[in-house]
Amino acid sequence: MSNRRNFLKKSVLFTSIFGMAPWASSLAKENIYSPTGKATIISTWNHGIQANEAAWEKLRNGGASIDAVEVGVRVPESDPNNTSVGLGGMPDRDGHVTLDACIMDPTGNCGSVAGLEHVENPISVARKVMTETPHVLLVGEGALMFAEEQGFKRTNLLTESSKKAWKEWQKKSEYKPIINIENHDTIGLLAQDENGDISGACTTSGLAFKMRGRVGDSPIIGAGLFVDNEIGGATSTGMGEAIIKVAGSHLIVELMRQGYEPEEACKAAVERVIKKEPNYRNLQVGFLALRKDGSTGGYAIHKGFNYALMTSATSNILIDAKFKV
Ligand code: ASP
Repeated sequence: MSNRRNFLKKSVLFTSIFGMAPWASSLAKENIYSPTGKATIISTWNHGIQANEAAWEKLRNGGASIDAVEVGVRVPESDPNNTSVGLGGMPDRDGHVTLDACIMDPTGNCGSVAGLEHVENPISVARKVMTETPHVLLVGEGALMFAEEQGFKRTNLLTESSKKAWKEWQKKSEYKPIINIENHDTIGLLAQDENGDISGACTTSGLAFKMRGRVGDSPIIGAGLFVDNEIGGATSTGMGEAIIKVAGSHLIVELMRQGYEPEEACKAAVERVIKKEPNYRNLQVGFLALRKDGSTGGYAIHKGFNYALMTSATSNILIDAKFKV
């Protein structure tokens, strides 16, 4: 306590001599990072490699980051062999594939859907929520009705192999997500275009065999995704409940605003999760961040989280994130 008092006393002295405390001056400056004019894409897990390729096609032709992030995450969404996103995603415990997705553009506009059924590309519905409605989030029946009004086709999202896995799960009906196993691998993708503008997208089928109606972090702006084009963006994967409790992606962007490097900001968010979550040893959370100056970073609770990074300098590489425990 006395240390804190001394610190405060010193700060008051500093402020009165120099006019402004050092941290206050950096906080007061909003645009603290300058874009490099080079494109960058970062996305979660192995499936990020293909998503990045598709997003890069947009960016390399001078495309906007908002188009790149949508096109990018549509790749795993439409892959029937990907069991954690879109078509082929694992169903809830009652056998329904319910999808969550959100998108955010450089102006801070955003759109989101949760518990959406029968539509292969929820990210594109989320984008329509952003552009065609005054709202941010549509759920369930209403989201589906809106999607159909917008011309999205109904598809059967439950593939034979996901159905088989669900039938297998029903034998024991254990609700036990396993760290890093294909039962929860959201794609979160952040992109910066050549103009320096940042957008993000996040899409998932959520936890395999979840309770009907359960929604995780992925469609929640501030939890699964957040972009502030003055500072950067962040996205997440892993146990959504733990991420929502700390507003993980928003936290990371705010830490970068205070001067944290992207990896440091992700690490601090992981530490926040650990502090609040007594069960942290049994769950995985991974974060990614992209800062306005093009620097990137990631961090996870446990070993095993990887991410795909693509820039003109690095081509498209898979990186093992550092981890806490
Ligand atoms: N974050 C997602 C959720 O909780 C799942 C995941 O990323 O693995 O729904």
